[in-house]
Amino acid sequence: MNLESLGADNSVRAAFETYSSRGLVPGRVAISHRDQYRLLTAEGDVAAEASGGLWYRTPDAAGMPVVGDWVAARMVAAVQAIVEAVLPRRSLFSRRAAGRREDQQPIAANVDVVFLVCGLDGDFNLRRLERYLTLAAESGAAPVVVLNKADLCGDLGARVKETVAVAGNAPVVAASAESEHGLDGLMEFVAPGRTVALLGSSGVGKSTIVNRLLGEEHLRTGEVRSDDSRGRHTTTHRELVLLPRGGVLIDTPGMRELQLWAGADAVDATFAEIQALAANCRYGDCSHEGEPGCAVERALADGSIARDRWESYRKLLREAARHDRLADPLSAQEYKRKLKQMHKAYRNYSKG
Ligand code: GDP
Ligand code: ZN
Repeated sequence: MNLESLGADNSVRAAFETYSSRGLVPGRVAISHRDQYRLLTAEGDVAAEASGGLWYRTPDAAGMPVVGDWVAARMVAAVQAIVEAVLPRRSLFSRRAAGRREDQQPIAANVDVVFLVCGLDGDFNLRRLERYLTLAAESGAAPVVVLNKADLCGDLGARVKETVAVAGNAPVVAASAESEHGLDGLMEFVAPGRTVALLGSSGVGKSTIVNRLLGEEHLRTGEVRSDDSRGRHTTTHRELVLLPRGGVLIDTPGMRELQLWAGADAVDATFAEIQALAANCRYGDCSHEGEPGCAVERALADGSIARDRWESYRKLLREAARHDRLADPLSAQEYKRKLKQMHKAYRNYSKG
């Protein structure tokens, strides 16, 4: 396997350098399931687990390997490895784990370009797009807005215009994955060594686009059958695959949920013009709720900010503040407990 085409650029090489002298090999996580991983390495596909040392040194669950991560691994058998370190990430999508409290759980790392897919049917919704743009801003991946199902749209020009108005610096591409019309515009963003992923609600055409990218119908992200170490047959699927035209696709179930994680900074970046405007309010701590000299209220009154965009901004900010507040204490405790167990197991293992 050629690691360059998998995305190992100079920065990955440089980050790996300190590990090569220790006899470790670079690999990219193709599947992560609980504490079991599947790595793509120069020698091929290997099963892997995290070393006790990695658990011990990783202060936060979010630092453990996830699909898309580059890792340094020790080969312990021909197709078996131990992950010793996770290399620095270029980008990271995280999820809010379900439950009473909220917990940041990594979903996919090192995505370069994320297609934010919207359907131009009855489902088209700019507010939802703002949410996806916020998630992209949080992750560090570059967003590309894909207006799919262009064939179903009576007024494409108007939809594109509305979309461009909220998309910031993100390119906007109209396409019809079904008829393959406009897909060239999408393929422009796919390149050897570059990692792409898709976000968008159910039914907008993500699987159809994935099939077009893979160039094969009815095969979702390379379904493969493999033997595990005990010789049992288990059906697994890779969540990271090489595309036939070059480029890497990450398609994991976690990316298909809307419960991704974003903080207030990502919200502000997505609504940059509102952020800039609010700086003109007379009072620095203006709550934009009737204070004198409020630039936001003025802009809402004269229509230079749309009321629904403003409300969308407030809503996303409230959500971000909510999980900033709820994220911490309990989940941290639970992680420490797990760490302790692992550490104990590791010590026993080293003794024995
Ligand atoms: P996903 O849930 O986002 O993965 O969406 P799918 O790819 O499963 O597509 C949902 C439905 O929309 C399927 O019936 C597709 O055939 C249809 N679809 C996908 N792309 C297009 C398109 O460009 N135009 C039209 N008319 N239908 C499409
Ligand atoms: Zn104000």
